[in-house]
Amino acid sequence: MRLILLGTPGAGKGEQATRLSKNFRIPHISTGDLLRREMEEGTEVGRRISEFVNQGELVSDDITQAILENRLREADCMSGFILDGFPRNLNQADFLRAALARMQAPVDVVLNIEVPDSTVIDRLAMRNRRDDTPETIRHRLKVYRKVTAPLVDYYDRAGILKRIDGDGSPEEVTKRILANLARTA
Ligand code: AMP
Repeated sequence: MRLILLGTPGAGKGEQATRLSKNFRIPHISTGDLLRREMEEGTEVGRRISEFVNQGELVSDDITQAILENRLREADCMSGFILDGFPRNLNQADFLRAALARMQAPVDVVLNIEVPDSTVIDRLAMRNRRDDTPETIRHRLKVYRKVTAPLVDYYDRAGILKRIDGDGSPEEVTKRILANLARTA
C-alpha cells in the first residue's frame, strides 16, 4: 500500500502516519524528518535547508525531491510507504507521479486530514519544535493555503482522494482512516 497524507500543519499527519506505519508495517517517510536530519548533520546542503525551514518557507524542490527519491529507492519501500509532508506543491506532485511511474509503483490513496483552524492553532501551540514560533507558524499556514492546498483538488481529480475528519483523539482518527480504507479495499 502506497499512501500520501495531506493536511495543514498541525492536522496530525505525523501522528497518523506513525500509527498507520505500525498497522500496515510499511515505512513512514516524513520529508520534514529527512530534512531535519540533514540540518543536524551540518552539511553544506543542511545549512541551505535550515535557511528555508527556520523561516517557515518550503525548501527548494530540487533539494527535497532528491532526498525523497533516494529514500523511495531503499529496499523497505518495496512493500509500500506512507508519505507525510510530501508533496507540498504541484511541481512536487508531478515529480512524484513521474518518479513512481518509473518505479511502476503508483500511489493508491491520498488521505486529506481535515481539522478546524482552531484545532490547528491549539495543536501547534502544544508542540515544542524549533521552527514553531508564532511567526513561522503563521507563515507555514499561509504557504500551506497558497501552494499545498491545491493538491487536494489535484488528487480529487485523479480519483484517489479520501477526506478524513481529523478532529478527535489520535485513536478515533486512526479508526476512521482504517474504516474508510476498508470500504474500498
Ligand atoms: P514538517 O515536519 O512536515 O512540518 O516540515 C518542516 C519543514 O520542512 C517545513 O516547514 C518546510 O520548511 C520543510 N519541508 C518539509 N517537507 C517539505 C517539502 N515536501 N517541500 C519543501 N519543504 C519541505
